[in-house]
Amino acid sequence: MERARSSFLSRRRLLQGAALAAVPTALTATSPAEALRAVDYPSAESFPASTSNYTASNRPSTYPIDYVVIHVTQEYWSDAIKIFQDPSREVSAHYVVRSNDGHIAQCVREHDIAWHAGNWDYNTRSIGIEHEGWVDQPEYFTDALYTQSAKLTATICGKYGIPINHETIIGHVEVPGATHTDPGPYWDWARYISLVNAAALGRI
Ligand SMILES: [Zn+2]
Repeated sequence: MERARSSFLSRRRLLQGAALAAVPTALTATSPAEALRAVDYPSAESFPASTSNYTASNRPSTYPIDYVVIHVTQEYWSDAIKIFQDPSREVSAHYVVRSNDGHIAQCVREHDIAWHAGNWDYNTRSIGIEHEGWVDQPEYFTDALYTQSAKLTATICGKYGIPINHETIIGHVEVPGATHTDPGPYWDWARYISLVNAAALGRI
C-alpha cells in the first residue's frame, strides 16, 4: 500500500512539474513540484531521492537534530545518487559530496528523515552526509571534499545548535549497532573538525 501510494504521488508530481513549466515562477514557488527541487543549502544541487527511500517528517519539530553522520559512499557520486533515486533500494542520505570538486547533491530535505545510519533513533535525529570514495582509497578524500563538506556541516550545526565536536559529528561506524565501517581509518577527523570550526568562524 505504501509503495503504491508513493508511486502515485511521484507520478502526480511529475505531471505537475510538466504542467508548471509554462507558469510564471512566482505562482509555482510553493507547489509540490517546486518543493521537490528546493534545497536547504544554497550551493547544493537538488537530486531528490525516491519518496520510497526516506520518511517524510517536519524536523526539528517532530525530532531534534542532534548529530551529523559522516559516510563514505563506496560508489561513484552519480551512482550513489541513482541508488537513492531507485525505489527498490530503501536507502538515502541528505547530501552527497563529490570528490574532485566538493560539489554537493541534496537528495533528502533536512526536515525529512533519510535512511542512512542503519539505526532508526539516529536516523530521526541526524543529517547524513555521504562522501564520494572508498574507505581504503584515501586519494578520494580531496582538499575540496573536506572543505566543502566542512562548510556544509558548519552550516547544519549553526542552524540546529549542534556543538562542533566528534561527539556530535560522528562516523557511520560510531552509530550504535552499525554494520558499516565508513568513513574508515583514512578519514582525517582532526582535520575535519578543525575545518568545521574554521567554517563556523567564517575563516574558510
Ligand atoms: Zn555509511
